[in-house]
Amino acid sequence: MDALLEVKSLSVDYEAMDGAVHAVKSVDLTLHRGEVLGLAGESGCGKSTLAFAIARLLRPPAMITSGQVIYYPDPEKETPPALLDRLDANNGIDIMKLSMAQLRSFRWKELAVVFQSAMNALNPVLSIGDQIIDVLHTHWPGKGKDYYHKRAVELLDLVGIAADRLRSYPHELSGGMRQRVAIAIALALRPELIIMDEPTTALDVVVQREILDLIAGLCREFNTALIFITHDLSLLLELSDRIAIMYAGNIVEQATSEQLYRQPRHPYSYGLLNAFPTLHGPRLQMIGIPGSPPDLRAMPTGCAFHPRCPMAFEACRGVVPPLEPSGPTEQLVACHLYNPRFLNQPPSTAQIA
Ligand code: SF4
Ligand code: MG
Repeated sequence: MDALLEVKSLSVDYEAMDGAVHAVKSVDLTLHRGEVLGLAGESGCGKSTLAFAIARLLRPPAMITSGQVIYYPDPEKETPPALLDRLDANNGIDIMKLSMAQLRSFRWKELAVVFQSAMNALNPVLSIGDQIIDVLHTHWPGKGKDYYHKRAVELLDLVGIAADRLRSYPHELSGGMRQRVAIAIALALRPELIIMDEPTTALDVVVQREILDLIAGLCREFNTALIFITHDLSLLLELSDRIAIMYAGNIVEQATSEQLYRQPRHPYSYGLLNAFPTLHGPRLQMIGIPGSPPDLRAMPTGCAFHPRCPMAFEACRGVVPPLEPSGPTEQLVACHLYNPRFLNQPPSTAQIA
């Protein structure tokens, strides 16, 4: 599969009075064209910070301290002229180096973001039709009134809203419908990548599921890549092609949904999967994970998960495990249990079932 985005050694700190909080630590991640990638992990593990950093949407005190995010525009589509002089020898664009003006060209056309509060970000004094047409008109000027109208109707239709709603104002729509409008706007310019951060937490469970189903379906239809974050791990497993599990600012496991569901390898993934009800089958055992995530200002030495890990052994306290391919399925895991170097130091506690 074709790479769309390569995150390389990306680190983000939050500057605080008593020192920097390392929210994202040297993350490497590749996203392929048209791929649906889920980010999972407990609150505060860095998922949103990573997603916002990729979109260059972080605000102080958050600061990107190192790394690159290389984006590969579709060679078959016209690259926005403002971005042409940023193309490197491999036809990639480092998002971290874009000027504000270049970022404006990049957003919407190449990358759209749907926030948790997207449905409240609609302009209350404009009809939803006018808001959609506004986005189309700003980025694709000079197309004529009929074109914009027709396109707005098509976009609403995609998200299951009837054309006669074009004249409705946001307050006349339910939360679920407003979120659908936000998705229609995100899709308006056919971006290559959409990032959604807990886009549905304000909605009830049934509507949440409908909306995430909808967006994942539309992304597959248009071959749009999607990075999405939700607390609902069963939904993540169901809708994602691949999942990255984050813990304390690092990715600790990366695997296809299928691999992760059938055979999680990192003890933290194992704990997460057992802490959430799953959809298909009897494997459910609500054991949860003991303890709480570490203080990012005073991280444990070695593997950050070691104080909570039932499998921890001596090396875990001293050596940081790198994210490496493991096992026949090549899923990536950051855990010494899979490192042949430590095979003569077997875990002292019982094997994971
Ligand atoms: Fe547990 Fe050690 Fe693996 Fe960390 S490296 S997850 S402490 S076994
Ligand atoms: Mg968050």
